[in-house]
Amino acid sequence: MMNNIYKITDKLEKEHSLSINEYEYLITEYSLKAAEYISPKALKAKREIYADDIYVRGLIEISNICKNDCLYCGIRASNTNCDRYRLNKADILSCCDEGYGLGLRTFVMQGGEDMYFDDDTMCDIIKSIKSKYPDCAVTLSLGEKSRESYQKMYDAGADRYLLRHETADREHYSKLHPQAMSYDGRMECLRALKEIGYQTGCGFMVGSPYQTVKALAQDLKFIEEFKPDMCGVGPFIPHNDTRFRDYPAGSVELTCYLLAIIRLIHPRVLLPATTALATLSPGGRQKAVLSGANVVMPNLSPTAVRDKYLLYNNKASRGTESAQCIKELKEQMADIGAVVVTHRGDVIK
Ligand code: SF4
Repeated sequence: MMNNIYKITDKLEKEHSLSINEYEYLITEYSLKAAEYISPKALKAKREIYADDIYVRGLIEISNICKNDCLYCGIRASNTNCDRYRLNKADILSCCDEGYGLGLRTFVMQGGEDMYFDDDTMCDIIKSIKSKYPDCAVTLSLGEKSRESYQKMYDAGADRYLLRHETADREHYSKLHPQAMSYDGRMECLRALKEIGYQTGCGFMVGSPYQTVKALAQDLKFIEEFKPDMCGVGPFIPHNDTRFRDYPAGSVELTCYLLAIIRLIHPRVLLPATTALATLSPGGRQKAVLSGANVVMPNLSPTAVRDKYLLYNNKASRGTESAQCIKELKEQMADIGAVVVTHRGDVIK
């Protein structure tokens, strides 16, 4: 059995492509031994492109107001227990000021689908950040919008857009989202973002309710074919105010194994060691970096609102998850031979 794992992993390392069945096999036969075989290969592939560099982004959670009702999400519209907030332009610029001083050169504006942030408002904020900090990249993670809106924000200066595809299995998608949200709509958004010219990121949760091995294999095949510039993959963590409150969290080990596979599919992809990993395991982020991750996104949101942007229970936003603790983050990375760098950290094509 291990021989097959070694053979398929070696093929992936050489050809950067597998069949759905082969991806399924790698996932079904996951073991510590399989992870120990693939992780060094993933780290080597990452180092050949990015050396020991770890790119760092300042995450600004601009609003926890959302019109959608994704079944797994703590800030979904129908959660009346959620204490809502919204940052204004001055708040956001002040986060950028602080982040710039800390050495951050990418600002990620993430939020629910909050209609307050219409095209004019977002374009104004993006232009202000880019004119004050021309050496910085702006990443957006604001959900589904029309192609026209994406284009306007790109023209205003936004560089990157993160939109997790959530699952590449249509049936699985329908079990995680209300009827009003469509799998096809989401995929259409991702295609539009790429065509417009954004550095585009997709991604999914590991261990989400109703996820099958086949669905995970489809995620990997989708990533192989879509060729994203970034890929956000983190373990599912339940939120108390959702119907999935009693479901178990996803596995840190399987998540890191999948990160290693994704690194071998696309050696150049920007692969974050997600906050969800750090939330589930104190060493989760380091483990992810040793499996080929090369991006960390410490939280730069005002401390007063950090505990309100709770997509899942007990989300880490303090300590090395906080941008203010970048020194500790650097030390944590140095412990495993990685170096936090201060530049925009674009994908190397
Ligand atoms: S996952 Fe995103 S789009 Fe869905 S409810 Fe949560 S914030 Fe809104």
